[in-house]
Formats: sequence, structure tokens, C-alpha cells
Amino acid sequence: MARGTVRPARDLCSDCGLCDSRWVAYVRRACAFITQQFETIEARAHGRSRDQDNEDELYFGVFQRMLCAQLASPIEGAQWTGIVSTLGVKALESGLVDAVLCVQQSPDDRFTPVPVLARTPQEVLAARVNKPTLSNNLSVLEQLPGSGIERLLVIGVGCQTQALRAVQDSLGLKQLYVLGMPCVDNVSREGLQTFLDSTSRSPETVVHYEFMQDFRIHFRHSDGSTETVPFFGLDTPRLKEVFAPSCLSCFDYVNASADLVVGYMGAPYQWQWVVVRNDRGQELLDLVESELNTQPVMSSGQRAQAVQQGIDAYDKALRLPRWLAELVGVLVNRVGPKGLEYARFSIDSHFTRNVTWLQRNHPDKVAAHVPAFARKIVSRYRLPKP
Ligand SMILES: Cc1cc2nc3c(=O)[nH]c(=O)nc-3n(C[C@H](O)[C@H](O)[C@H](O)COP(=O)(O)OP(=O)(O)OC[C@H]3O[C@@H](n4cnc5c(N)ncnc54)[C@H](O)[C@@H]3O)c2cc1C
Repeated sequence: MARGTVRPARDLCSDCGLCDSRWVAYVRRACAFITQQFETIEARAHGRSRDQDNEDELYFGVFQRMLCAQLASPIEGAQWTGIVSTLGVKALESGLVDAVLCVQQSPDDRFTPVPVLARTPQEVLAARVNKPTLSNNLSVLEQLPGSGIERLLVIGVGCQTQALRAVQDSLGLKQLYVLGMPCVDNVSREGLQTFLDSTSRSPETVVHYEFMQDFRIHFRHSDGSTETVPFFGLDTPRLKEVFAPSCLSCFDYVNASADLVVGYMGAPYQWQWVVVRNDRGQELLDLVESELNTQPVMSSGQRAQAVQQGIDAYDKALRLPRWLAELVGVLVNRVGPKGLEYARFSIDSHFTRNVTWLQRNHPDKVAAHVPAFARKIVSRYRLPKP
């Protein structure tokens, strides 16, 4: 099917790829931006939806275990230490699955995603590192019929996982595993260029970047040098328009319906955060757990005041001068939220921003689109006028 011909979610489309496959037939009930159905997909994936009276589940979704981890021997060129790629490789090598849906990069552009159904460890490793742009991962479902693939591991972000969960029973698979990553503030390839141009000293040589738990963006350049920029120094007036509308209306930051989630936001600086949501998630983690350094999750600091100040500053599109941004960054890093509290800080900041964005841009969608757990979180803050 030709790309881009059918986009029922219109401006809210996250380009997850479902509409580039025959499963476009299910889009009205599968697309996260047309029909929000957290309770249904959580219940289908984990046997129950999250307990909103439990503060950890309210924020992080259904889970059995959370831990902080690093691969003891990190993979060169991975986004963090390469837990995700190693899991993909082991899932193939152990025969747990026949293929891994993951995202390689275009030979012409390191940041242009190329989704694949990887059949070999080499193909999975070629997909390591984030392509920090919208990626139409589910388009490769189109290759499933007749492929002989009966057991599949899908690696992806929340919007992709939600649509996948809605169609999984019609894929003809014997077993599906979902390894999710948290995700916010994704961009189109053009939006990424605006971000790099406005933030890095050398946008054309950036090969890797991450928003880290020390409140700085860490860039790595092709000559091996690194650069860090404080969050508080971002060019907010210019960047406000850069994020994809799908991301400005997303409440699945923590990939609620994945079996296993691997990110960083709930872990201290330089550690990855692992959330086992169900038995299939533990089955996946079992493949690598003996190769991990681990420590328990931790939480410190107080986020609430910083979140409220951030809401007001973002709404006014304030841009701090670099020296002040550096100073605020050092202070916040010293006394600010860490571990799970950092994750809650980030969730609060993004959910409040997104509810405001929806109220202003799609007021007719707010009632059906904002899930109950997000309403509860957002009600703790004073939002700008719609
Ligand atoms: C777009 C994006 C945004 C993210 N935002 C956050 C965040 O806000 N907070 C947080 O805690 N974690 C976030 N993560 C996850 C985090 O950055 C790491 O990817 C994760 O910790 C795994 O690191 P790793 O070294 O184990 O991964 P690697 O071993 O390097 O593997 C990376 C995997 O990501 C997949 N991938 C790459 N680009 C995409 C894409 N565009 N869409 C779907 N899959 C992709 C590849 O297939 C590959 O398997 C994000 C990931 C992505 C892709």
C-alpha cells in the first residue's frame, strides 16, 4: 500500500505504520489518536488495568517488578547500554521468536528510520540506537502473511504498541512479545532538524543524543566529542511548534501495554529503568538478567513545585539566558527529583502540557481522549487558561 494515502487520525497521526498495512481496516478502533482505550488494552495484555489508587501504578502502569540495570558489557553504539538489542538477539538465538520487529536506519541518513522484520542477530544489532523521529514500524506487519513467522517480538514506542495490541489477535501469530520503550516529544525528520539547529553547536555532526536524568541533553558527535546543554536553556519559543501533534496529545509515555519496558526515566543518572509488566515480560528479561548489573529503584526529591513553575514558564515560552540556564541546571540537578521522582516530574510536566494543548487545539476530543489516570495526575496542578 502506498505510504501516506490513508491517515484517518489526520493531524494527530503518529505515523505508527498501521495505515500502511492491510490492518488499516481496523484503524478506527486501533489508532490511539482516534480511540483511546487504555483500560481495555491493559486488561487484554496484563489481565487487569492499572490500580489508580496505587501511586506507582497510577504513574507507571501495571507492573510486577521495577529495577535499574546496565548491561555489564555494553554494546558499542547502542542508545544506552544496549539491553534492548541484546534482548532482541537472545530472543532469536534462543528460538523464543522467529523474528524481531525493530528499526534500522537509512544508509543516507542516520536519523531516518527503516523498520524491518529482523531474522538474524546481525539485523537486530543493526537496529540499535534511537532514531528520534516518528517511525512507521507497523508498516512491516504487511510482510507477515506467508512469511512463516509464528512467534514475533515487537520493539516499539507507545503509539505503535497501542495499535499493535488492538490488532494482535488478527495477525495470525502463535505468540507475540512486546518490548516497549517510554517515549515523549517525538518529531518528524524536519522537526528534528529544527531541534538540532536550535540546540547543538554542530547540528550536522550529531550522531546520538538523549535527554538525561541530570536535566541536560547529551549530544555525541561523529568525531567522538560530546556536548551537553541544560534543559532550561532550550529555545522554547522555537521548539513549542516542533513536537508532533500526536506527541502533544499522547498519554502513553510509559508504554502501558508492553510486556516489558526498558527506558531510563525512573532510574538514577546513567542507569536504565526496567519495568516487568507481566509473565511474558519476565520471560523476556530472563534472557538477559544474568548479564545485567542491577540495583533497586530509588526515589528522592520533591517535584511538585518545579512542575508548576515549568507549566507557567512553558506557557509564557520563556527562554533563559545560557548562564542562568546553567545555574538553574546545576541547582536542580543537586537538589531536584531523582529516580522514580524524576520520572513522575517528567510525566506530570508532559501530561499537564498535553491536556492544555488538547484543550486549545482539539477541545472536542478532551473528554474522550484524556484517560482517567492522566486526569487524576493533572488535577494536582493549576493549568493555564485554555
Ligand atoms: C523515539 C524514542 C523516544 C524515547 N524517549 C524516552 C523517554 O522520554 N524516556 C525514557 O526513559 N526512555 C525513552 N526512550 C528509550 C531510551 O532512549 C532507550 O531507547 C532505551 O533505554 C533502550 O536503550 P538501549 O541501549 O537498551 O537500546 P538499543 O539497544 O540501542 O536499542 C534501541 C531500540 O530502539 C528501537 N527504535 C529506534 N528508534 C525507534 C523509533 N523511532 N520508534 C520505535 N523504536 C525505535 C530500535 O529498533 C532498537 O531496537 C525513547 C526511545 C525512543 C526510540
